[in-house]
Amino acid sequence: MRKGLRKTGVLRLQHWASAQRARFASSTPRRVRGMHDNITPQAVLRRSIIEKSFRNAAEGYAFQEVETPIVEDTSLFLRTLGDASDVVGKEMYTFLDRSKASLSLRPEGTAGVMRAALDEEKQSGSGSGFGPQQPPRKLFYKGPMFRHERPQKGRYRQFTQLGVEYIGGAADHPLADAEVIALANDFLEDIGIADECTLRINTLGTAQCRERYQHELLKWLQALDPDTISESSKQKMADGRILRILDSKEDDFIVQNAPVIEDYLQPEARERHDSLLQLLDESGIPYQQDWTLVRGLDYYCHTAFEFVYEPREATTSEGSTQSLGAAQGTVLAGGRYDSLSSFLGWRGRGTNDVPAVGWAAGMERLELILPQSVQDQRSPPPVVTVGFIRTAGCATVHDDTETMKMFHTLCSSVQKQQQEMSAVSDAPQFRLHRHYAAGKMPQLLRACEGVGSQVLLLAGVDELAQGLVSVRDLRTREQTTVSVADAVDHLRRLLT
Ligand code: ATP
Ligand code: MG
Repeated sequence: MRKGLRKTGVLRLQHWASAQRARFASSTPRRVRGMHDNITPQAVLRRSIIEKSFRNAAEGYAFQEVETPIVEDTSLFLRTLGDASDVVGKEMYTFLDRSKASLSLRPEGTAGVMRAALDEEKQSGSGSGFGPQQPPRKLFYKGPMFRHERPQKGRYRQFTQLGVEYIGGAADHPLADAEVIALANDFLEDIGIADECTLRINTLGTAQCRERYQHELLKWLQALDPDTISESSKQKMADGRILRILDSKEDDFIVQNAPVIEDYLQPEARERHDSLLQLLDESGIPYQQDWTLVRGLDYYCHTAFEFVYEPREATTSEGSTQSLGAAQGTVLAGGRYDSLSSFLGWRGRGTNDVPAVGWAAGMERLELILPQSVQDQRSPPPVVTVGFIRTAGCATVHDDTETMKMFHTLCSSVQKQQQEMSAVSDAPQFRLHRHYAAGKMPQLLRACEGVGSQVLLLAGVDELAQGLVSVRDLRTREQTTVSVADAVDHLRRLLT
């Protein structure tokens, strides 16, 4: 019976696959909506600049890289984000796998990183826990996230987050909040956009502060004419996600006029926030207090912040490639999430909360505003093309075994010399492109242009037999013949 069922399933699958083959026989499969290839040299360069800078900043603060799976048990996000949240309710990619387990593509990184930290602590059996005298887990990650949103500039269905999480140890101290914010600020400064980003900061206080505040906010909302409230905010009221209403991109009137949490803060929450602001003043990091800024998930407490891109008129044309729409202006967002651990079922000594604070930045939004000047400064080393001069009977390098070997030996020798020299000197490096189709000069020049090469290393059978090669500077059109052994030295001097 089972076997029969399995057979029917396989047949159905085969039928589906052949129908698909017929359907797409004349077309190539398309990229999925809201997802992107990063294939152009410019896109790859922008992403590598941002990633390197992020990595440098995080490592500079002694954070360590962590990798967690892209696919997680759906319950991880149900527990942490809540099934009434937009992310879980509308945006998550959830599916049953072959063993009928409900899995989801991660919509964000924090829940997975916290799960991994708790798992590791349980498994290590060290029993040291996350107490204030223990070393904290200072982790950073980079990776794809998935949300089924309406695609637009700066908002995609697969996007990349760069994030840091400071978990456990003395992470409950405002110094930890100040540290992760300083890290964010250094990162944005390094990629040349800190001056155009405003740090907006707020406190959500303790659970008690929020409870009192939400109660008052709900009363205030209920007194409004329902016609003035957007459908999505009405839904949030019905679901009890009252704070999330302040995150609305449609209800300006509410965001501007609703009561603010400031009036409901307990003295210790207020003090904590003031300490953090003093630390930011101390580090010279400018900020704007924004009482309407919320992170709507229940596990957030105290600090919430965002770096929002607000270009100054004078710098937009030169400074940024394309600007972001108002709804996509937040390039980096974070906050404190002490209760996340208890949402994940952590049972600690005395408290189930593991203090934690962190942030995540959207790589694609940063890419859109990365200044051209930064891209120019950090462009990769120039390309040197090795080309072979065509002779009778030798149209590509491999037409003749001897020529092929000579060409290969020349390229390997240049590559090796370059590696050895890089290890001992700061002279500029280059990337080597091996052009296999032997050609006449105009063809070789076109090939150089195609790969953006400024120098051509010109090999000919007779010259190579004497251990010589010609170096042609395509910028000045000057050409010199040097020995193969001196080629790299010469190239480096040329490119200085
Ligand atoms: P938004 O208000 O823009 O929807 P969010 O509050 O949903 O953002 P977070 O969950 O805080 O975003 O994610 C942190 C950062 O990740 C955002 O500030 C943004 O830069 C980036 N981000 C979030 N969603 C997307 C997306 N769909 N496409 C591209 N980047 C995104
Ligand atoms: Mg969103």
